[in-house]
Amino acid sequence: MVATDDIARLTLGTFVRPPAETGTDHPRVEVVLAYVVRHPNGVLLLDTGIGAADDETEAWYRPGRIPLAEGLHTVGLSLADVDLVANCHLHFDHCGGNPLLAGRPVFCQRTELATARTIDGYTVPELVDHAGASYQELDGETEILPDVFVMPTPGHTPGHQSVVVRCGDGTVVLAGQSHDHASDFSADALAVLARRAGTAEPLPIAPDWMERLLALDPRRVLFAHDAAVWEPH
Ligand SMILES: [Zn+2]
Repeated sequence: MVATDDIARLTLGTFVRPPAETGTDHPRVEVVLAYVVRHPNGVLLLDTGIGAADDETEAWYRPGRIPLAEGLHTVGLSLADVDLVANCHLHFDHCGGNPLLAGRPVFCQRTELATARTIDGYTVPELVDHAGASYQELDGETEILPDVFVMPTPGHTPGHQSVVVRCGDGTVVLAGQSHDHASDFSADALAVLARRAGTAEPLPIAPDWMERLLALDPRRVLFAHDAAVWEPH
């Protein structure tokens, strides 16, 4: 069984979210994080970094990239060590390194892949349908390795998914971009708990799947764009 120490985080760069997307007058620098799970059956990588985009997207987000090989090196791994890949979703800042992992099975929701292939401007198509791409299309919650589950967490995109790792010393949720920040997750968790405790309405509405995630009693929840970590109080 995996231990929480078998899960490592790597940094694959930053981008600058412009004011039009932050809902404020200010831009916001966001980090791009990926995660590896060293499982007895193989090394799983969740998300692969920021892909090369068109000039307009580059100017809009001003990405600073750390090559995937370099990021993996910081956790003692190389591209060749990666056996399995999952993408929380297929925007260009999450699947940028997928072409470097050609031939490796890539777990994603069927809905997400269909969306990426049909909506113009959704992502960079070459990052999704590259030579050697090998998608394992999932329809909902799936155990992809013993004690490693992919769970749909739609919202940011229709096919967004998170990875849940049942470790010997607690459950870790690699939430991807289910929430932009750990504090957003915390707010939704508190809303669920308040409703469960019978606090009178009105209460904030949290996504349906928050109930399911919290029922797993996570010891730690980690995110794609926030180095902050949620832990239960
Ligand atoms: Zn993102």
